[in-house]
Amino acid sequence: PYTGPSVDEILAKRREYLSPSLFHLYKNPLNIVDGRKQYLFDDKGRRYLDAFGGIATVCCGHCHPDVVAAIVDQTKRLQHSTVLYLNHAIADFAEALASKLPGNLKVVFFTNSGTEANELAILMARLYTGCHDIISLRNAYHGNAAGTMGATAQSIWKFNIVQSGVHHAVNPDPYRGVFGSDGEKYARDVQDIIEFGTSGNVAAFISEAIQGVGGIVELAPGYLPAVFKTIKKAGGLCISDEVQAGFARTGSHFWGFESHGVVPDIVTMAKGIGNGIPLGAVVTTPEIAEVMTRRSYFNTFGGNPVCTAAGLAVLRVLEKEKLQENALVVGSYLKDRLIELKDKHELIGDVRGKGMILGVELVTDRELKTPAKTEILHVMDQMRETGVLIGKGGYYGNVFRITPPLCFTKEDADFLVDAMDLALSRM
Ligand code: PMP
Repeated sequence: PYTGPSVDEILAKRREYLSPSLFHLYKNPLNIVDGRKQYLFDDKGRRYLDAFGGIATVCCGHCHPDVVAAIVDQTKRLQHSTVLYLNHAIADFAEALASKLPGNLKVVFFTNSGTEANELAILMARLYTGCHDIISLRNAYHGNAAGTMGATAQSIWKFNIVQSGVHHAVNPDPYRGVFGSDGEKYARDVQDIIEFGTSGNVAAFISEAIQGVGGIVELAPGYLPAVFKTIKKAGGLCISDEVQAGFARTGSHFWGFESHGVVPDIVTMAKGIGNGIPLGAVVTTPEIAEVMTRRSYFNTFGGNPVCTAAGLAVLRVLEKEKLQENALVVGSYLKDRLIELKDKHELIGDVRGKGMILGVELVTDRELKTPAKTEILHVMDQMRETGVLIGKGGYYGNVFRITPPLCFTKEDADFLVDAMDLALSRM
């Protein structure tokens, strides 16, 4: 049994010694002390089904024994900086990772986070093209350092930064967007930005295939192919931010961009790729990667032996346990059950996403699409009482984000939907 500090003691220390901006998911916060597979355990030993942690931390399940063994073995042997000496761990993972990407995307730069990966991707695009302008989508989240906070396009995540050369295009959001699911119509805005907001040439377009923080928004079909063409014509590079949608999560494909039939020039990833270990990566072509030899460049811990040993173990687990197939089969089943729930509860305005990156948007009025901001908190709390932890996001904070570890089962899906059904029925 847990004998550590109580919730109140931890809260007191946080208040005194930690950043006042640090937040927790529940008003009455949970003290999580253990994790196994798709389950989390609190200080009282109570088990919760984790329907959210897949995005932030784990893709193959909490404390997967193979990943833990890889981390422990490498830690016992050596943990060091990535630079200075040779070590096989970084090269082995780079090779394995490159084999998962299409075309000539085979040069890997490792980082410690998604923010760092996107900062580097933007830097490379600017160097390669000699242009400064970046186009990103409204409602996007790409990070919280100067460049990526500029590319992020939600006021709640932006501080008073100098946002140089960033343009935010109309979001091809099938649920709330003005053109519905007509991707090509939204794409014209990118052409307009280039014509009326830049010199006619741009450095890059960056987007998620499914916006995560933005509330699991799938880009309207046809949008990415049209925009990629436009950006290429303007001399720019296309960057795919796969921090949330990548790594087998969508089920049908390993990468989110693949279901749009496009091949980006640069792909960025982080979060689940290390199953909880800080690890990010940028993958690009040898030609683009070459720009980083113009000056000296390194990242002390990006790709260090412990993190890359974890990354390689994650890839092997995904393959061994066929987790991409599981994401497709169980994710599709879960989505179908959520769609049925929408027929039953007026509060559900939309169900969307692919595989194990799903969103349920709550609205108090289906016509007006009024965000159900307080109702969602209530449902979330009730689900926690039943033993299900779920995420929340979107600009209005009214979208459930369901992004479990990829080992989630059909029984877990049933339990989640039943818990949501019960909470909604009691509203
Ligand atoms: N890109 C996307 C799509 C993200 O969701 C996030 C994190 N929410 C990031 C980048 C930034 O990653 P990190 O927090 O690891 O810097």
